[in-house]
Amino acid sequence: MDMDNDKTTFETSEEVKVVPTFEAMNLKENLLRGIYAYNFEKPSSIQQRAIVPIIKGRDVIAQAQSGTGKTATFAISMLQRIDTKTRETQAIVLSPTRELATQIQSVVLALGDYMNVQCHACIGGTNISEDIKKLEYGQHIISGTPGRVGDMIRRRTLRTRHVKMLILDEADEMLNKGFKDQIYNVFRYLPPKTQVVLLSATLPNDILEMTSKFMTDPIRVLVKRDELTLEGIKQFFVPVELEEWKFDTLCDLYDSFTIIQAVIFCNTRKKVDWLTEKMREANFTISSMHGDMPQKERDAIMQEFRQGKSRVLITTDVWARGIDVQQISTVINYDLPLDRENYIHRIGRSGRFGRKGVAINFVKNDEIKILRDIEQYYSTQIDEMPINIADLI
Ligand code: ADP
Repeated sequence: MDMDNDKTTFETSEEVKVVPTFEAMNLKENLLRGIYAYNFEKPSSIQQRAIVPIIKGRDVIAQAQSGTGKTATFAISMLQRIDTKTRETQAIVLSPTRELATQIQSVVLALGDYMNVQCHACIGGTNISEDIKKLEYGQHIISGTPGRVGDMIRRRTLRTRHVKMLILDEADEMLNKGFKDQIYNVFRYLPPKTQVVLLSATLPNDILEMTSKFMTDPIRVLVKRDELTLEGIKQFFVPVELEEWKFDTLCDLYDSFTIIQAVIFCNTRKKVDWLTEKMREANFTISSMHGDMPQKERDAIMQEFRQGKSRVLITTDVWARGIDVQQISTVINYDLPLDRENYIHRIGRSGRFGRKGVAINFVKNDEIKILRDIEQYYSTQIDEMPINIADLI
């Protein structure tokens, strides 16, 4: 795979060295075996820079473009750091959605396939007594959402005495208003020396400034804003003038974007329901998912979509971050995202690990300014969609 971010100029702390191979990282043999069995040959740019400092126990702030291997960066590091001779919990990863926490668990279990590792997804919307059973058995690594993890810690079902690492994936989202208190509620139960690792494709300044409060002399691996969009993802806009025009525009596009898989983002759950129904009435095949649905239904939809049984998913920002489905070629912003960060995350659902992708933004008359602002902020280019879009997907 041709990885775009090989060309990135990272802004790194002086101590950071580039380690070009997994062998040179001095990993445990069983871990190395798991990495190769998972078909990783060579570490990506962020992996070359961040894994070794994390393994050394340093606090680390790691930024890299979407789809360039941040999950494996911390998964490999945790697996290297845990002692599997006991079953005490030694590492906790927190992420913003249940689906992402579950995906992280699968990556950890896959990479740790030869290590006899226990990794549990501790997430809301699931049976609490099952959680308790799993935790009582003993789990080396917990991948969870903050609410349920906090709950399990307060019940003392999740014992934190041996925890040595806390990973915040999608760190800027986790430290935002909505999650901050819950994160703090987990943090204050951890041993004072716990290593903290933050990762995200977007790390705005206010978040970076906040980190001095709970991190010790962190190593930084950062990407400049103007190198954050991936060249593999072509970005376009369609002027729709009015909200009412969006639906017909989407129907016109449907055939071109079902070639592989597509995700359509709306800003509210209500809109997702409305659009899904309208598309179905017009005989289009559509899946949809949002945070108001029962977890069982969310799981079923994720499974269908991951297996390629459904090709078009209408969703909210619950899907904006972290979800890795390599076949996604197209992202459509039916509504423009409400912040610049989620723009990067949404379009990053396509173009995974150097693949090509297309992002299409529906833009009403009064929104052109917002789009131009995004374009300028990331020094990127968003052209009007050409007629031959199908050739580009
Ligand atoms: P991020 O967290 O940065 O958005 P992921 O960790 O989800 O990205 O990785 C994106 C995709 O790239 C995943 O499908 C993952 O399996 C793959 N990947 C990650 N690291 C490597 C590697 N070193 N070699 C090959 N594929 C990789």
